[in-house]
Amino acid sequence: MPKILTDNETVEQHLVKCRALDAADPLACIRDEFVLPEGRLYLDGNSLGAMPKRAVAQVAKMMEEEWGRGQVTSWTQADWFDLPTSLGDRIGGLIGAGPGQVVATDTISANLFKAVCASVRLQKGRVKLVSDRANFPADLYILQGIRDLLPEIEIKLIGRDGTLAELVDERTIAVVLTQVDFRDGACLDMVEVTRIVQAKGALMIWDLAHSAGAVSVALDACGVDFAVGCTYKYLNAGPGAPAFLYVARSLQSKAISPIYGWIGHEDPFSFSPEYLPTGSVRRFLSGTPAILSYIPLKASLEIWESVTLADVWHKRDQLTALFIEAVQFFDPSGMLRLASPREPALRGSQVALRHPSGLAIMRALIARGVVGDFRAPDILRFGFTPLTLSYEEVWRAASMLGEVLATEEWRKMSNAADGAVT
Ligand SMILES: *Cc1c(COP(=O)(O)O)cnc(C)c1O
Repeated sequence: MPKILTDNETVEQHLVKCRALDAADPLACIRDEFVLPEGRLYLDGNSLGAMPKRAVAQVAKMMEEEWGRGQVTSWTQADWFDLPTSLGDRIGGLIGAGPGQVVATDTISANLFKAVCASVRLQKGRVKLVSDRANFPADLYILQGIRDLLPEIEIKLIGRDGTLAELVDERTIAVVLTQVDFRDGACLDMVEVTRIVQAKGALMIWDLAHSAGAVSVALDACGVDFAVGCTYKYLNAGPGAPAFLYVARSLQSKAISPIYGWIGHEDPFSFSPEYLPTGSVRRFLSGTPAILSYIPLKASLEIWESVTLADVWHKRDQLTALFIEAVQFFDPSGMLRLASPREPALRGSQVALRHPSGLAIMRALIARGVVGDFRAPDILRFGFTPLTLSYEEVWRAASMLGEVLATEEWRKMSNAADGAVT
């Protein structure tokens, strides 16, 4: 990719360039759809996406009309009952999944538990679960819980026990990997990894927490078996919004959820004492869906469906590249080291920078209104959300980072973790 900034230009000239990029940006008008507080540069949409303005009115309407006036009739009249699958299909549209394969429900953790347990049952005689030592710990915990429940299961981790190619064999049940690394933002090649895994008869389970809304994903085209992901990060659906679970159509008649949920029963309202899973992906639903949390998701999907995804991916490449170049400009002596891949195609929608006092620097930056986050031991993490960020904001964020370094104001901040959510 060609450089965005021209060498040897002044701060003012670079700013003019960023403003020109904003003026030509087809997504610029979408910013108006979100609540973006004055005086803050929000580069943490990879942790909790900004709030769609229209969610407020839609939640109020749901409360007053559907719950208040409609009461129990809204389960059918307001289509509450079908929200997990209707919104699941719409999420599918953003991750390359045809209809009937995605449910919006529960959390990533719970959905991963269901997908891995279903894989264990599908793969009788196999005993090994493979993941990556650097995977998000929540995913590793779920695997450990399953191992402690089923003593024959063993866990092998890439980066501790061997490489992917070494660890996947005829004894492997499934491989669980997060496509975009939550620390450094490196993005795995879904086609290639899925091919290596399935060549040994193992199932491929992708965690798309930092992929959905961040990178172009083609689940059907890649022949993925299961995928999980959340909607509160890049998809702007709000804190604790329903996660999603993709079950490839070819597996749906055989894959069984370990949670025999009555909502996933063939005929929930027959109240039959025997569990009989329904034929579709609905069999992966557990209990009564948390309807209130689906409303902001619906609002956010309306916005996501109004944009051209290719524009989002293009702006993602540009914003992350601009930030990397701008950090180089404002930190010419290289106090910060780039931890993310330089090649846009190899990274997600975040940029990670390393510094031994990273937490103190991030605290000083947040005090100036530039919100990113920190991941131990030394990673300053910045998320780039093309729907809500302008080029000028990205430039300004890098400029503030440069000032925090130049003034050394971060030395007044503690570099010790205090357990707070960042
Ligand atoms: C954010 C994140 C999760 C969170 O899982 P929940 O159970 O929904 O809290 C899981 N995996 C990865 C890779 C994440 O980044």
